[in-house]
Order: sequence, then structure tokens, then C-alpha cells
Amino acid sequence: MNVYDHPTFRMACQQFDLVADYLQIPTDDRDRLKIPKRALAVAVPIHRDDGSTQVFQGYRVQHHLSLGPTKGGIRFHPDVELGEVAALAMWMSWKCALTNLPYGGAKGGVNCDPRKLSITELERVTRRYTQEIISFIGPQVDIPAPDMGTNEQTMAWMMDTYSVHMGYTVPGVVTGKPVLLGGSVGRREATGRGVGYLANRAMDVLGLDSSRATAVVQGFGNVGSVAAFSLARFGVKILAVSDAFGGVFNGAGLDLLALEKHIASHRTVTGFPGGDAISNEQLLELPCDILVPAAMERQITEKNAARIKCRILAEGANGPTTPEADQIIGQREEIFVIPDILCNSGGVVVSYFEWVQDLQSFFWSESEVMDKLFRILENAFMQTLNLSRKNKVSMRTAALILGIQRVHQAKKTRGLFP
Ligand code: GLU
Repeated sequence: MNVYDHPTFRMACQQFDLVADYLQIPTDDRDRLKIPKRALAVAVPIHRDDGSTQVFQGYRVQHHLSLGPTKGGIRFHPDVELGEVAALAMWMSWKCALTNLPYGGAKGGVNCDPRKLSITELERVTRRYTQEIISFIGPQVDIPAPDMGTNEQTMAWMMDTYSVHMGYTVPGVVTGKPVLLGGSVGRREATGRGVGYLANRAMDVLGLDSSRATAVVQGFGNVGSVAAFSLARFGVKILAVSDAFGGVFNGAGLDLLALEKHIASHRTVTGFPGGDAISNEQLLELPCDILVPAAMERQITEKNAARIKCRILAEGANGPTTPEADQIIGQREEIFVIPDILCNSGGVVVSYFEWVQDLQSFFWSESEVMDKLFRILENAFMQTLNLSRKNKVSMRTAALILGIQRVHQAKKTRGLFP
């Protein structure tokens, strides 16, 4: 197992083991469910604009193949490692199974810093990485999508590289593409809007009035920023937001449109004149109704879990809360957790819609997309909530039970080859 050894992979395994114990999954079946089916590590050499050559390390991990092709994002971040990608792939498996999508989980990444690369260098990284994993992906094999550090443009380059290789246009090889190239309307906003929808449902459950509620958002990328706007639309006041460089706080509520303009010219939330500077650590401990970690893994740990002061923890990021922190939060009954595999699943759900639309060359309206998305989220939310209440387990355990059980059942029913 040590090829995947990494704190995030250990964390994903710890979560799995707790649920496997709870479900009394036979030991013989556990490794089959846990160990990623396949992984590819590739060198990604590119010409830098200054004429030098640099080699990045790229990965793609496919966690299980029992329910269909694999699905999951591509991350461009300097800290990307095989074990982290494997953990993210495992979480994609449980997420897709929880929402009943016909996919196994996957994830990929390149250990580059997109902020330090020019647009032409980024294109070369993307195309060379795609070429290196080309026999590993495909509309019936494995379908990448955006994740941290990648976006619609990255997906357009990936689709083009794959299509040039095949000799014809293959829109269904990736999702999260520009709408012009076979992307789905609503995909870009889907994760953040899903976070907003589910946080609003949690407010209903707790009897909180959204027009008096406050929220704090860690991470102001595609997920955090749309989640903030979506919560604001429900009447929630956004007290603080942050990015990798720090955060801004305004007790009277941040002006999100002015903040967006600031980001457009400065590429960071820091220095925004409409609020006071605050660190990422301080931000997580601000009193608020809804705390949305929408950045990296392992942000809420045994060190700060006792000090977070929210009613709803809406996990926009993958794996923001460690199992040690979960234990502490589990004893704080005032906190309602919307676990990551449920909370941020809106992205992959609309990715699934995009893939279906591409395979059929038949495209849906925004209201069709959103209506179908909210129906799936509502169903997954209610199933998780009901199981959590019935079996007296946490929302995270309930969501993981639903996801893991479905994959386990699929493997058992298909049997073991040969
Ligand atoms: N990267 C996103 C996630 O972590 C989306 C994956 C997808 O759309 O395939 O869920």
C-alpha cells in the first residue's frame, strides 16, 4: 500500500475503515474496495517561455471500475502527490455512488503552480499531460473535469488534444468544457450552487432564518465564490472570505460585487478595502451560522475543531475535516455537518449531465439542468439525513455508508474475475 502513502490517503483510509467496521464488511472485501484499481505516473516536460525545459510530475488514479467509467477532476497545484490524488479519487467513488451516478471515482493532477506559468506554458503542460495519459482516458473509460487550478480553458485544451489524437471531435472525453464546445450550461456554477442549496436545506432542518444568518467562506475559487453568491441570494450575510494569501472580514457583511471587481484587478481577495485583513486560521474560528471550507484538505483538525463557532459546517472542499476533528465535532451537537461527498457533489452531478448531453448531442436548458440537479441533491440529502437519524450516526458516516455500501454491493453482485 505504501505507493499511496500520504497524510490525505491515510485520512481517506481511516474514514473508510470506520465505516467498514460499522457495516461489518468482511476483511477480504476491504482491500478490494480501498486500493485504487489503477494509477499512472507520468513526466510532463515542457519548454518554458524563456527557452529552458522543465519537467513536472503528473498523475491519474482510477479508484474502481465496478459501476462504469471513472470520473473526477484534474488538479494543478505545487503540492500534488500520488497519495493525495488517490485519496481524492477514493472520495470521488463514494460521492458518485451517493448520488447514484454510473461512475467510479478518479482524480488527476500535475505538481505545477499555475500562478507561476504563462498562459502558453499552461497550455503546453495541459496538452503534454493529456498526451501522456491519452490511452488511460476516454468517454467510456475515464472522464476528467476541472478541479483546483484548472478551468474551462484547461478542459478545452484537453478535449482538443484527445480529439486531434482520435482524428475527430470527442466532446464526451472531459466535462466542465466551455458551453460553446459541448459544455453544459450551469456546470461552472454547479458545485457552489449545490453548496448554497444544501446549506439552505440545513437551515430549514435547524429552523434558522436565512435572512438573519451569517456565513464565512474559506477559499474564493470557483466553488467558494459561487457558494458565497448563492448564500447571499438566500439572504445570508457573508462576513469573511479568503484565498491562499489571506482573508478579509467585515462584520456588517462584505460587498461581494465590489470584492469581485477587486479580484479581477488584483487576483486575490487580500487588500480589499471593504473589509479588514484576517488570516485563514482566524477566519475558520469566526462566530457564524454557516462555515464553508472551500479550499484544501485537512483544514479543520484536532487543533482547531473545538474552536470553530458555526451551526452548519458546509464542506465545499474535498476532505477539509480530519477524522480527529470529526470526533471532536461529533461531541458538539450544536454543529450540523454537510459532509464533502454530499455538499460538493453538485459539480460532478452536472458533469454527468454534460457527459450524457455530449453522448446524445442533445443539449438541455439551464432550468432543466438546475431542476434535475436540485432533485438529485435533495434526494441524497434526505437519504443521508434519514439514515443519520435512524442509525444515530453522524451525517458524514451516513453519507459514507450510502456510498460505500453501493460500491460494495456492485462488486459483490458482479463477482470476482476469473
Ligand atoms: N473536481 C470536482 C470534484 O471534486 C468535480 C469532478 C467532476 O466533475 O468530474 O468533485
